[in-house]
Formats: sequence, C-alpha cells, structure tokens
Amino acid sequence: MKSALALSLTVLVTVGVAAQRGRGGAPSQPTAPTPPGPPRVELLKKEAAAEVEAMRVQTQQMVDQVFSFAELGFQEFETSTYLTALLEKNGFKIERSYAGVPTAWFATWGSGKPVIAIGSDIDDIPQASQKPGVAYHDPIIAGAPGHGEGHNSGVPLNITAALVVKKIMEREKLPGTLKLWPGVAEELVGTKAYFIRAGLFRDVDVSLFAHVGSNLGASWGGGFGTGLVSIEYTFKGESAHSAGAPWRGRSALDAVELMDIAWNFRREHLRLQQRSHSIITNGGDLPNVVPQNASVWYYFRETDYEHIKELREIGDSIAKAAAMMTNTEVSSRLLGSAWPQHMNKTLAETMYANIVSVGLPAWDADDIALAKGIQKELKQPQIGLATQLNPLRGGLDPEQNMGGPSDDIGDVSWVVPTVTLGYPANIPNLPGHNWANAIASATPIAHKGVTAGAKVQAMTIIDMLMRPELVQGAWDYFRNVQTRDQKYIPFIGPDDQPAITMNEKIIEKYRPEMKKYYYDPTRYKTYMEQLGIKYPTVRQ
Ligand SMILES: [Zn+2]
Repeated sequence: MKSALALSLTVLVTVGVAAQRGRGGAPSQPTAPTPPGPPRVELLKKEAAAEVEAMRVQTQQMVDQVFSFAELGFQEFETSTYLTALLEKNGFKIERSYAGVPTAWFATWGSGKPVIAIGSDIDDIPQASQKPGVAYHDPIIAGAPGHGEGHNSGVPLNITAALVVKKIMEREKLPGTLKLWPGVAEELVGTKAYFIRAGLFRDVDVSLFAHVGSNLGASWGGGFGTGLVSIEYTFKGESAHSAGAPWRGRSALDAVELMDIAWNFRREHLRLQQRSHSIITNGGDLPNVVPQNASVWYYFRETDYEHIKELREIGDSIAKAAAMMTNTEVSSRLLGSAWPQHMNKTLAETMYANIVSVGLPAWDADDIALAKGIQKELKQPQIGLATQLNPLRGGLDPEQNMGGPSDDIGDVSWVVPTVTLGYPANIPNLPGHNWANAIASATPIAHKGVTAGAKVQAMTIIDMLMRPELVQGAWDYFRNVQTRDQKYIPFIGPDDQPAITMNEKIIEKYRPEMKKYYYDPTRYKTYMEQLGIKYPTVRQ
C-alpha cells in the first residue's frame, strides 16, 4: 500500500501535469509502452522522423500562416482554404463544407484498410490577439481574436506527418487510407458530434488526434476532465416605455437575471465535479425600452453522461421557472456539446513508445528566456520549458475526477478507438484561453514542438499501417473494456444543427484590419520577422 505522503505527491504531480495539458484528473498507474515492431517497421519509422525533420521549414510556414489568420470558430475560412489547398496540391481528395459546416472539410489519400483519421482543432480565442515572441500583453490588433490556445499548429503537424507517411506508403506500396480533418469551432465544442452524425468516422479504424500542450505526451482511459452541453436560453417578453408605461412591459432581461440568480443558488447543492458558467448574449437594447427579448448562454459541465444530462434538466427547469416568474416565454438552442473523453489504451501505449523515441525538443537560451519572461510577467514559478517527459498515464479512477475542461474529441473517442497526442508547442503555467497562450504559438518553441509532435504522429501512423495486431488490440480495448457498460448517446438531437453563424459579426468587424497582417512566406522567413519582432522580447 502506498503511504499517504507518496499518494499525495502523486496527486500533486499528476494534477500539475494535467493542469498544463488543460485537464483535471485523478492519479493513475503508469503502464508500459508498446514494444518495438519488426525491424522493417522500426526502420521506416526512423526514416519518417528524419523526413519530418527535413520538412521543418514548411512546417514552420504552416504554423505561422494559420497563426496569422487567427480565426474564431465557424469562421475559419482563410485557414481551411489554405490547408485544403496544400493537401489538394499533394494529391489528397478534398470534401468541402462537410456536415453543413462551411469551414469544415476532410481530405483523403490512399486506398483500403486501415483507414486512419488524423485530426486537430483550428479555431482561436476572442480578444487574444498577441505579438508572438513578446513576453507581455502586446496585441497585433487590440480587441481582435488570436491563437490564445495554440490551435494554429495541430493541423500543420498532421499535414507534415501525413505527407511524410504518404511518400513512404507510395514507395513501399503499403495499403491504407489517410483521412485528415479539422476540429472546427472546438472552443464552442460545436462540430465533432455533427461530423459523427454525418458519418465521418463510419469507415475509420483508428483515430489519432493532436492537441497543443507544454509537453509531449499521451494518456489512456477516462476519468479526467468533463463533458458538457452548451445551451442558449432566449426569453421573449413585451416591450413598453420603461418610464411611461412600465406596467405594460414584461422584461425578458428580468428572466435572464432570475435564471442566473437561481442557478447560482442551486450551485451550492450540485456535485463538486460540476463546472457551469454563463454569459448574457443579449441584455436588451436601451434602458428606456423594456427588453422584449434577452438571452443567456450556459456551459453545463460534468464528468459523465448521466450527470451532464441531469445538469441540463436542472437548467431547463430553472429557465422555465424564470419564464413563469416574469410572464415571459422561453426557448432554448443547443449550441455545442462534448462527451467526456476516453482514450484508447493500445493507441496510447503505441504512441507513447514513439514519444520516448523522439523525446523533447532541444530548447535554446532564447526559448527558455521567453518562457521564463512570461512566467515572471504572470507571477508564476519560472520553470522555463518542459525538459522531462511525463510517464504514460492511464486507468484513471472516475471517482477521483474533480472536473475540468472538455473537448468534443470526447465524442469521437466513444465511436472509434482514439488517442490524443499532446505536443510541446507552448509554455507551462499559463492561464489558457488568454493572450499569454499565444506568445509562443508562432515562435521556435511552437516550431520545434510541432516538428517533435509530427515525428510521433508519423511513426504512430506507420505502426497502425504495418502492425494490424495493434489496430485489433485497440478495438479489443474499445469493445471489451471501454464500451462494455457505457454506450455513446449523442447530446445532439436529430433536429439540432451546427451553430454556423456564431462569431460572424466579430470576424466581419476585424477582418479588414487582420488581412494586413496575414503572413507572407514569400517575403519573410518567419512571421516574427514580418512583424519586426526581436526574439525573445522580454520585459527588463
Ligand atoms: Zn484546445
């Protein structure tokens, strides 16, 4: 039995790691990476890693280019046009406007089994515009969106890996299909359930996902983070002159405020694992007009399907009660949803073996100076960048899950064996969803981290193509362990539709100014060079 001290130490270390990767989580038992494959496979994996290294300039250009587009969820038009053009030029077949989402697509190359889905998110964060390489708040355009999460680097990582593997597949005549896809509007958890409904994963054997972090890693099992439903409640009342005849009005805003008050009282009596937050998206037009309509937008997060459903029902009844109190009417719209994630054991163990073989990038003094500069700026421990891999984590105890963020890759993980590669393109100890998370995202930290990640991804794809027993092992775990007692029931109903007009107005407002700052790789080696930034720029 573990001593209490050892146990609490494990908790501390795991929570620290989890926080960096944006996840809450319980302590876990380390498991062993998958042993190496036959010599031919290992040789091709080595070659793939060398080819990824040789592509680092193209990788850097893709990372910088998407960073400069800086598009919010459902508005990733420049990003998707650019990425699909690249893939098309390299022989991929593109399906555009997928699942009724104008910025969604998927790209396929190859033929036959296995079909390997390779995905990552592409959207960014409101008001997170930030000059890369600068260790204090210094927006490119004040108020504009920016990659304050680092979603600019995941699809570039996947493209590098896929192009390298494609070349090897052609030469070695390996059967298999590569299927690249973007996580559109991940911050709204707005599309992955719709991609599933449209059939994106129906023919897929394994799904490899990539998400930015501050270390190279993978984990398996569930029991970390949350899932959620995102719902906007809209109340409809009656307008009147606020001073002349207020008794003739019925305020929709009153209903919104009463709903918020009721929810915040109710919060005391909800499980500690829940996370819920809201913003008022419409609070009326003028104080002297009784608001005839008003809306409030909630994220209801919990650690499992049943509890998420329960929170949603509480939300619905509180909304109805608020409508009754104010004699208004309420309607609601599902804007997004995510299942809690459950990552595949075989896939994580295989990916982890490649992580160990690739190792962390060699950071230089400038990279570390930027990292310590922002950590100092934000009054965080100045630990610099990751220099040690975390152990492979798995088999987390759901009872110990204290909640945390969500990602709609969770839905995908319940329909096909899935693993997420965390890659070190960012700095530890940042707040997340903030300008600070954008400072590294178009610097050598991101470029090196993405190259390391692309090596792991390419090697893992080769494992899946050439070692059918691993694909079999992934499905054994998926069928006999993960989904034995828990089946996927989507939160979206048959009539729900993706919220494709979200963020339209914000992008419209900033687009003309943002265009002036799109990266031009024909004139500048890097985006920082184009912006005239000295790397690193740190407060003295
Ligand atoms: Zn993310």
